Amino acid sequence: MILAIVEHDRGTLNELTLQALAVARDLGDVEAVILGSAGAGLAEELGAHGVSKVHVADHELLADYGPDAWAETTRQLADAIGAEVVLAIGSDRGNEVMAHIAARLDAPMVANVISVTPGEDWGVVRVRWGGSLHEEALVVAPLKLLTVAPHALAASEVGGPQAEVVPFMPSLSDEGVTRVIDRATLAEGITLATAPIVVSGGRGVGSAENFSILEELADQFGGVVGCSRVATNNGWRPHSDQVGQTGTRVAPDLYIACGISGAIQHWVGMMASKKVMAINTDAEAPMVTKADYALVGNLHEIVPAIIEEIRNRRG
Ligand SMILES: Cc1cc2nc3c(=O)[nH]c(=O)nc-3n(C[C@H](O)[C@H](O)[C@H](O)COP(=O)(O)OP(=O)(O)OC[C@H]3O[C@@H](n4cnc5c(N)ncnc54)[C@H](O)[C@@H]3O)c2cc1C
Repeated sequence: MILAIVEHDRGTLNELTLQALAVARDLGDVEAVILGSAGAGLAEELGAHGVSKVHVADHELLADYGPDAWAETTRQLADAIGAEVVLAIGSDRGNEVMAHIAARLDAPMVANVISVTPGEDWGVVRVRWGGSLHEEALVVAPLKLLTVAPHALAASEVGGPQAEVVPFMPSLSDEGVTRVIDRATLAEGITLATAPIVVSGGRGVGSAENFSILEELADQFGGVVGCSRVATNNGWRPHSDQVGQTGTRVAPDLYIACGISGAIQHWVGMMASKKVMAINTDAEAPMVTKADYALVGNLHEIVPAIIEEIRNRRG
């Protein structure tokens, strides 16, 4: 039986969890754990994603995210129900919680899998090196601890019946745990990670001020601005805007790369985009050759022309 962790933040589902459930249900009967009663309302939609039973764990230490409490609760539940696999999405939180479970059990953990083949020893393919390498491995352990690479597989509903909801009361100690005591929100509304359209700029933009045309284009579409590492290194944009291996991974419907060459460290951060449009003076740049659409020319002429055309069409 597979136990899937439903990642949420004080009741708001991390939608990537649904991608992990698509992997889980190919492996066997799926039960899920929601950590903290704030997430209890999420149980309703999980049946449609193939979950047969939802365990809602409640404890004072689960009122907010805490890797120790989440991991210990999941470990206790996995033991109680005899889970063969514990699985989560390979987000920052998913990987952190799974690593804590592995440490508690002194068991191996496999991060960012894109496929799993059950057998005597379980075969997995996992994403390494920022997405530039797929590695085959065998998991030799009685309890398999896996996270699923975000955006590797699409979430889909299978139309299952409503999942049975059962309470779970873990035994937790507040010794040796980290607890959230305050938060400062740095980004309101649509974020780089969730925006449907990302207009991203690199060295070709030329200065911090020149990003204003990218802001304007993003505004026209209800999107957000991202950038390459050159733009952050030059102080044109904050690091929170950086897309790539050492920045944010994005998967928008459309990624517009302006003056970005498409180095592998950038590409791995946006390769899950549904469509890519490159605006670049160099027809041979990797971003141009790999893009779905390419506009070869000076972005300082092309971007304002696109904005003007949108305005004209909208009257
Ligand atoms: C360990 C490591 C981690 C890294 N992590 C990241 C990461 O997370 N994200 C990241 O982005 N990079 C990362 N990098 C850096 C990466 O290797 C590249 O150096 C970087 O992505 C290049 O940025 P760029 O495309 O803006 O610049 P360049 O490679 O210099 O490309 C600029 C492009 O702009 C085009 N151009 C110039 N002028 C114009 C114009 N007027 N109009 C249109 N096009 C124009 C050029 O033709 C060129 O293609 C990392 C590197 C290392 C070693």
